[in-house]
Amino acid sequence: MNQPRAVAVYARISSDPTGQALGVARQLEDCQKLAADRGWTVAEEYVDNDVSAYSGKARPAYLRMLRDIRSGIRDAVIVYNLDRLTRRPMELEEFAAECEAAGVRQVATVTADVDLGNDDGLFMARVFAAFAAKESGRKSARLRRKARQNAEAGKPGGGPNRPFGYEADKITVNPVEAELIRQMVRRVLAGETTRSLAACMDAEGIATVGTGEWRSSTIRQILLSPRIAGLRAHRGEIVGPAVWEPIITMEQRQQLLNVFAAKKASGRRAPRSYLLTGMLRCGKCGSRLYSAARQNERRYVCLSGPDHRGCGGITVTAPPVEEWITAAVLYRLDTPQMSDTLSGRQATDARHTELLAQLRRDQVKMDELARMWAEGEISRPEWKAAREPLENRVKTVERQLSQITGTTALEGIVGHGMELRDRWANMNLERQAAIVSAVLDHATINPATIKGGKFDPNRIEPVWNL
Ligand SMILES: [Zn+2]
Repeated sequence: MNQPRAVAVYARISSDPTGQALGVARQLEDCQKLAADRGWTVAEEYVDNDVSAYSGKARPAYLRMLRDIRSGIRDAVIVYNLDRLTRRPMELEEFAAECEAAGVRQVATVTADVDLGNDDGLFMARVFAAFAAKESGRKSARLRRKARQNAEAGKPGGGPNRPFGYEADKITVNPVEAELIRQMVRRVLAGETTRSLAACMDAEGIATVGTGEWRSSTIRQILLSPRIAGLRAHRGEIVGPAVWEPIITMEQRQQLLNVFAAKKASGRRAPRSYLLTGMLRCGKCGSRLYSAARQNERRYVCLSGPDHRGCGGITVTAPPVEEWITAAVLYRLDTPQMSDTLSGRQATDARHTELLAQLRRDQVKMDELARMWAEGEISRPEWKAAREPLENRVKTVERQLSQITGTTALEGIVGHGMELRDRWANMNLERQAAIVSAVLDHATINPATIKGGKFDPNRIEPVWNL
């Protein structure tokens, strides 16, 4: 056998809470030494980071190595140990098959050699793989038991991030963050929203423990976590007192739970209270506008802050915009273009039906051909020849179908603008909004140019659906 001249070296760091596994540097060093001892030339090192082969997570470097083996640019593989390479017997079979197909016979490990080119080698590799899979299963059961024991002893869990309010050991209280938590608790109990708290944290430049920005959900998560009351939870269940100091009292925790439970009960999706909710955009930043009342004035506004991330630069009084858009919608319903559009849509509908029927006919023919070939009535070349034009037509029809958009709820309202105008005031808001959104895609509200608060319809830039 020739000396391999383009060897792949594979190393993997597995997550390893015990710290006993070999570091990746050591794995690579041992593999390089083995290559040097044998006079093999290493072409590339493939390294996957902190993933267990058993967990089934993607291993990008491993996949890249397989691809290189498949394309014929690697002629041997060195790994520290077979359990670095695969942990499921199925994966080993795939790996062996790729190697065989590419003519790669030599797979060396620092601990034992495997020659996939002969049955003994493959057998040994299979035994290793089966053994590793079993070990791995045992290991995860062991880790689960250990995690449970840890939790019951009140010790911190193994997540990557420290919790807000505690140092990296997850036990020592961080006095500055603890004070912030206590402030937030007082403010929530006094009726302040988590959204406003998130905005304050952002404004004061306080960092989250991860990389993210402050959101209402971040605040809620911190305040509702049993941890800050000195409790240890495991898999969503409180298992007992924790070894760390509490930041808030048990009474405060109970009050918080009550406040959030009450909010949840009252926060069910409210019925629509503004006609144009979801249909207006900010002329400065393009964000959607939200309804917001100030004293007795209904308004649509661009909201900045953690949950919306708009520019905050546009505000418009709701009633004149709603009146203007309604009038425009009802007017459009009676225009000749509108009835053209509707008949256009009906024609489109007819075309849609026709294309669907064509597609079904072709699919039936293709099934029939397949049956004839399976039963030996036609040869494979005959089957292929008959199938090709059908396949092409199916592709074309499918493309045409995807370009046709179906009709909307326009029938019954087109040409009835006058009538609808008379009934408008008596319709409920949901029905009104349905009619508006059938005609209007969205409207952009531009900044005011006229001073003095008088409404300027030129600020509205509608984009019509039709
Ligand atoms: Zn904006």
